[in-house]
Amino acid sequence: MSQVPETIFSKIIRREIPADIVYEDELAIAFRDISPQAPIHILVIPKKVIPRLSESAADDQALLGHLLKVVQQIAAQEKLDKGFRVVINNGEDGGQTVDHLHLHLLGGRSLGWPPG
Ligand code: AMP
Repeated sequence: MSQVPETIFSKIIRREIPADIVYEDELAIAFRDISPQAPIHILVIPKKVIPRLSESAADDQALLGHLLKVVQQIAAQEKLDKGFRVVINNGEDGGQTVDHLHLHLLGGRSLGWPPG
């Protein structure tokens, strides 16, 4: 199997660099984005390195569903009762800058649409 290159997010998982971690379980970890685009901006990532959604495998299906349930749980924890947005940037045109799948959870203000 080919080696998947690691990113800064693997270092966060291993606690090699600091992050404001708000949730963790055996499959996923979530931490506050270092450059928040909304009052609440949290990244939910799998511990397994999947570079991007388009490279996820058939047997990642349960893990992908789990990440959404983690978002739901954190949104409740953060009291985002008025709503929130979940974003996955994929690849160059999607604006992805870190090659480790991550779900952006954004909330705490009214969010515009469409995105830029
Ligand atoms: P994307 O552009 O979708 O790949 O999102 C990557 C996100 O990771 C950006 O919103 C960055 O602000 C965020 N980010 C990069 N490095 C860190 C870090 N060390 N801690 C927390 N968030 C980070």
